[in-house]
Parts: sequence; structure tokens; C-alpha cells
Amino acid sequence: MREVRIRDTLSGAVQTLDPDHEVGIYACGPTVYSRIHIGNARPFVVFSLFARFLRSEGYKARLVVNVTDINDKIYAAAARAGEGSAKFAEEMTAAYVADTDRLGIGRPDAEPKATETVDGIIELIAQLIDGGHAYESGGDVYFRVRSFPGYGRLSNRRPEDMDQGEEAGSAGLKEERLDFALWKSTKEGEDTSWESPWGPGRPAWHIECSVMAEQELGASFAVHGGGSDLVFPHHENEIAQSESAGRPFAHVWMHNGMVDAGGEKMSKSEGNIFQLSEALDRYGREAVVAYLISGHYRQPLAFGELPMEEAEARVERLRNFFRGHPVGRVAGGVSPEQQPGGSGETPPATRLEAFKEALADDFNTPRAMAEMFELVGEANRDEVPGAAGAVAEMLELVGLGTVTEEKSVVEGSASPPANSTLIARAEVLKAERDDARAAKDFARADEIRDELAALGFEVRDSADGPRLVPKS
Ligand SMILES: [Zn+2]
Repeated sequence: MREVRIRDTLSGAVQTLDPDHEVGIYACGPTVYSRIHIGNARPFVVFSLFARFLRSEGYKARLVVNVTDINDKIYAAAARAGEGSAKFAEEMTAAYVADTDRLGIGRPDAEPKATETVDGIIELIAQLIDGGHAYESGGDVYFRVRSFPGYGRLSNRRPEDMDQGEEAGSAGLKEERLDFALWKSTKEGEDTSWESPWGPGRPAWHIECSVMAEQELGASFAVHGGGSDLVFPHHENEIAQSESAGRPFAHVWMHNGMVDAGGEKMSKSEGNIFQLSEALDRYGREAVVAYLISGHYRQPLAFGELPMEEAEARVERLRNFFRGHPVGRVAGGVSPEQQPGGSGETPPATRLEAFKEALADDFNTPRAMAEMFELVGEANRDEVPGAAGAVAEMLELVGLGTVTEEKSVVEGSASPPANSTLIARAEVLKAERDDARAAKDFARADEIRDELAALGFEVRDSADGPRLVPKS
């Protein structure tokens, strides 16, 4: 079992996971008011694959990703759609499950919903009121931020720079500006409500995560994750609620950067949103997963046609590698002669070790993938026994195991690939042809020439070396 290190947002330090206890991971999931966009898929992929890696190392990992199905945005979107909000949230939850299923990386161990957690939420709010940390006001209940001395610790903000972003509807009800809502009385136009000691109403947003995390993982658990846009106020408020109620809460905070489009945050209001389902239709699941792990999880990730085509090209390069180096399947596994790690310090074993070490080091997927492509390049140039098995094992760890399966260049697409996609594929083939020629593997180079011809391209020699041109 490898030591797994994570850069913790709360302490700013590198923390290690305790191998002797279950590694509970709670990651904040979507608010289901629309189909999810590619940015929402990032935490789903990062935390699912992180849990997968931990399990492969022998940790007992349990991943919980909630669904926020009570929210102002849901009431507003349901009204626009002319539907009841409960039915609308159910439909959007089903769409979220279907869209993320298509990523092909499995489901979290638990996916609790706010609507199914209301009893626990009411209990925690009542406890916070009893302890002097919350107060009822006009049918709403607010958290008394002044009662929690650690407030601002996660986001490192000064009180004067903090804004809960929930002024609408709470004017005159809060003792202090910085207090935030735990419970909201039913407002006009809201078609769902729950009975509570403070009258009919519904949970505000932050409180559900304090309750769900504890119900699924216990009062003290290993990792709390989510997008960096949730650090304040959402996660700051989760800490305040849980710790004020005497729960130690999360040991380590792990935040993924935002997916942005050309430097802009991806958002509905910016009009640069890209639905996950559209990305899956257009580029396929492997390219979407490869794209989402192409940057370090903590860094922002640029979205656009170019990065998606690059991801597609990397997947195609891997697919081509397995066409030339088929992985022998023995009882669903890798054949013994391709078994990595069996023969000590072989190049595949060394690369596989470096790949896993990169994942253990703050889940550095780009460094891991670079190790994989080094091995692919080596094996394309020269025979490297065991390379295919090692690459297959790496791919399995990052949810791309299907890349090893036989699939012809053109057949795999449901529809003819877009022009740019064709070019990206042809570029990959050309690079491999160059490699094959450099390695004097002329038979393989000729095969690739034929594959290129099938795509409508040929390679012509020019002063700058071989060049790809559309076939005349
Ligand atoms: Zn949350």
C-alpha cells in the first residue's frame, strides 16, 4: 500500500491518508436545475478515479456524492419549464445519472438527495439552535456566524470581504450580515414544503451536506471534495455547522479547479456552457475522460475545441498502440508474459511504478499520463516486452480500459467524424508512421499508409520532412 499524499486546502499542507481506516470521501454534487455541463463532470471524474486508485492500492475507500434537489434555482427553472419542481428535479436527477453513467467510470457508493435528508437536517438545525449557534427569525432559521470563532479558516477571508450571496428574501431577518440561512420558510411560488418546528419550509443549501456527510461517513471522515468555487461560502458554512454541533468533520479538503472556456468561468450567464451530454456525443467518453484528467485537478482546465481534439488524438494514439500491440486476454486479465511488474526493473515495471507514484502524489494525473505516453513511445520505437500490459493497467486505473479493445479507426463512430476530428486522427497516424519508419518497421509504416489512405490522406515528402496532405 502506497502512501497517498494530498495538498489540503484547509491547512495548506500536504496530508497523508490513514491506511488503517476507511477513507470516506464526500464530494459535493450537482444542483439539479439543468443538464450538467462539462465543468460539473470534473469533480465526478476526479473523485471517482481517486477512489478507484485508493482501492487499487488496498485502501478501503467509500465515495459519497450528493444530489442537491431542493434549491431556489430549481424552483425558478421548474416554473420556466411549466412543471412542478419535485417532478422537474426528479427528471434532472435522472438526466444527471444517465449523463454521468455514459462516462463509464461507475457510480459513487452513495448518492444521497436533499429531499431524502430533511429529517436529519431539521434535527441538526434544532441542535444548533439549542447550542446558541442558530436562531429562528420570521419562519427562517439562520446560523449565527459570530458564535463560531473558526469562521473564515478554510477560505482565509476577512469578515468584511465575505458575502453569503443570499441577501434576497432575508432582509431584516438576520442579526448580522454574515449570518447564513439554514432553513427557509415557504415563499410564494414554491410548490414544495416540509413541516418543521419553525413552520412549513425547506432546508437552505449548506446544511444538507453537513448532514449527508455524517449520515454516510460518520461525524469524522477523511476527505471532503468539491469545486474550488465551493470553498466560500458553501464549505466554510459546512465546517461552521458541523463543528458547532460537536462533529470533527473532514480531515482533508481537496478542491478541483474550474473548467473554463477561454479564461472565462463556464456559466449559463456567460453563454459558454457545454453540456456533458453534448461533449459525449461529439467526442466520445474516452476523449471526455482523457480531457478531464489532462490537467492537475487543483488547476483550472481550459475547455474548447482544441483541448478536446488533443484529448481525442491522445486516445487515438493509444488505440493505435494496442492495434500494434494487442493485449492478450487470459480469464479477463492480462496475459502472463505481458504481466507488468513481474520481472523487476523492466522499463514497463518502472513506468507503471512512476505512474502510480504520480497518482499517490496529490493525484497528479498529467504526470501519470506523461509516464504512460513515454512508455507508449518507447514501445512504438522498439520492442518492449510487457509494455502493452503495463499501459493497459495504467488505463484501467484512470477509467480508460476500453481503449485496449479492438475498434477500427472509422467504424467506432456512430456518425462520420467531423473534419477536424479526422485531421486529428490522421495526425496521430502520421506520427506513428514516422516512428515506425525511424524504427525501420516498414511493414507497419505501410499499414499506416493504408489506414491514412482510408481516411483520405497521404504522406508526401517535403523539405521539412514528411507532410500530411488530403489525397488527390
Ligand atoms: Zn456540499
